[in-house]
Amino acid sequence: MKAIQLIAHGTPGKFGLYDLPEPQPRSGEVVVEVKACGLNHLDLWLEAGGLPVQICLPRTPGSEVAGVVSAAGDAAGEWKPGDAVAVQSNVFCGECEFCLRGDDSLCLRGELLGIGRDGGFAEKVVVPARVLVRLPLGVDFAASAALTLAGSTAMHMLTNRTQVRAGDWVLAIGGASGVGSAAIQIAKQLGAHVISTGSTEAKRTLAKKLGAEFVVDSTQTSWPAEVRKLTNKRGVDLVIEHVGGNVLPKCFDCLARGGTIVTCGATAGREVALNLWPIFVKEQRLIGSYGRNRADFRATLEWAAAGKLKPVIDCVFPLDQTPAAFEKLRAREVFGKVLIKP
Ligand SMILES: [Zn+2]
Repeated sequence: MKAIQLIAHGTPGKFGLYDLPEPQPRSGEVVVEVKACGLNHLDLWLEAGGLPVQICLPRTPGSEVAGVVSAAGDAAGEWKPGDAVAVQSNVFCGECEFCLRGDDSLCLRGELLGIGRDGGFAEKVVVPARVLVRLPLGVDFAASAALTLAGSTAMHMLTNRTQVRAGDWVLAIGGASGVGSAAIQIAKQLGAHVISTGSTEAKRTLAKKLGAEFVVDSTQTSWPAEVRKLTNKRGVDLVIEHVGGNVLPKCFDCLARGGTIVTCGATAGREVALNLWPIFVKEQRLIGSYGRNRADFRATLEWAAAGKLKPVIDCVFPLDQTPAAFEKLRAREVFGKVLIKP
């Protein structure tokens, strides 16, 4: 089978298209024939060698897989060849203290698909049966591959790590990004007033189309003041943040008393200086969020099937052009998701 493998880190990294042996499922595993796989910022970190974990090369990247079961090992449960599935990218052990209570985002032995083990930029991928979810009717492979990583990350942030009350003001950072575009839709469905940010007119238009009532221009240094003005100087109740760097402190400038910032990423930098005085005086919260658990993953697909969560797909590349897809994402020229279709 054909697979794209990263053979040396760099910007750009060195990739090759290889003919690898057909993967065989061991006990408890299934082989999934990949129909579509989403590209994520995580893949760029892997490429650049920018993740704080040990990576063994060569590695087949690709975390956001949708496809069809082509083979199942012993003890693979209900799964049989022909089943259309989505694959949860945080491959959890299912046995540790945290998995047993349903918090597989906290798994002690978790492994990321396409990072710690070979992923979906290939014709086939082998995964434990426990990470599969059946694709609901009305959700095709492309929609699944465009929603299940960033969409379920946003679902975890908005419905597990925090709760949104109807009438709350929610600020979704980067409304044209994977997490941002899903966060706008989920917050809106939960009855919130949504404000978003965007660096170009086209990105701001997309955020509005997805349901944001107001979208501020993030290239203007005054954007946090704009957010305060839109809320009559009160500030927002919740910020969905995934950028870090100098954006996170600015989110505190947008936050109401008693408000919460939930963060799931740090594409602009992992080290941030914070002024603690306003945080404790205003009794604000900063909450971490990492991936998703099984319930968030299922909910994302169910919401997609019900038409409540729509994927935003920028473009689709064939497998052999995966390095060009990395280049496009790196250039920040995308609206929504880039997909690979082997
Ligand atoms: Zn576990």
